[in-house]
Amino acid sequence: MKRCAWSSDSAEMLVYHDKEWGVPKQKVSELFECLTLEIFQAGLSWSTVLRKREAFRDDFYDFDVEKIIQFNDEDLERLMNDEAIIRNRAKIIATIQNAKACMNNDLVQLTWKPFDFMQMDGLNDNNKNDIKEFIKPYVKLFKDAGFKRVGPTTLYSYFQSVGVINDHEIDCFRHKELNDSFKA
Ligand SMILES: [Zn+2]
Repeated sequence: MKRCAWSSDSAEMLVYHDKEWGVPKQKVSELFECLTLEIFQAGLSWSTVLRKREAFRDDFYDFDVEKIIQFNDEDLERLMNDEAIIRNRAKIIATIQNAKACMNNDLVQLTWKPFDFMQMDGLNDNNKNDIKEFIKPYVKLFKDAGFKRVGPTTLYSYFQSVGVINDHEIDCFRHKELNDSFKA
């Protein structure tokens, strides 16, 4: 059985690859978790983020945006003092701002409506310039909606993880499985 090459990095990566990556998510808390973790991942490895995910869930109240919008300076310091997460002040502040953006925008609609709530086949085989051109209008959409730190790389990774884009390698067993499940 073939898998995407990156999935062999660790046991956690394998499970994440097989069970989660690219599976369509349509709940605000799930989408917000993916967006937040992708933002924190920037500059680090995904396996680092995965190892810290439970701590992130604890600190951000299971990514309940209504709770996160109420974070004050005390919360910010609480998170900055928690070694179990990735302590990056700018990213924590961006997460609070993004939770506020979720109050004015339906993240489910914002994520899925441009794609008519359908999963599109991946661009993994295309070159980087094509991906850059593809993602541009969506970056604008998210930025206009008030979201922070949603550059092209982060937003594309977000679309992959929440299943808007099926970017499993063509010969990975999950590529076909996801395509089939979406049609069913
Ligand atoms: Zn795969």
